[in-house]
Amino acid sequence: MGNQFNELYMANSATDVFFDVLTLAGSVLATSSWEQNLVLYFADGHRHDRGWSGFDLEELPWTDDCAAEKIFFLRLIDTALSGCGWDRLSYNPSRVHEDLTTFRAILDGYIPQPSDSAYLAEPTVGVFRQPDWRVSPMPEGTALCSTHGTFIGELGCRLCPSQT
Ligand SMILES: [Zn+2]
Repeated sequence: MGNQFNELYMANSATDVFFDVLTLAGSVLATSSWEQNLVLYFADGHRHDRGWSGFDLEELPWTDDCAAEKIFFLRLIDTALSGCGWDRLSYNPSRVHEDLTTFRAILDGYIPQPSDSAYLAEPTVGVFRQPDWRVSPMPEGTALCSTHGTFIGELGCRLCPSQT
């Protein structure tokens, strides 16, 4: 069982790593409301919905600022690829390089269009995200774990050992 992200398929174990490193990088980078909602998706994602966390890029709630949103998402992946925060992981995530590089190429070739009915804007997991990503997530969600510096999200820091 795994997760599909456009043409990229990842097993559940690889998806966990993918979400961990994007959460580490994104918790540092995200400043706008849209950016914080995106990173919260990774912070809360693939926890109770294992095997159902993939998405197509068309399912992101791109807004009129979608060109800037895409640039942020590329920067997020580049920051993850640089190893941002990897020293705070309890395992070696180096095999995520290939998945990040593949996903980056897919995103780079994708031309986003504003959408007001996107799948990822309907949070079944992650109640601190907003249906409208132009609105800031609830501050409880973007509070940082004191150990890992990552968004705590609805389900608690994904990197703390007691968490799912
Ligand atoms: Zn933590």
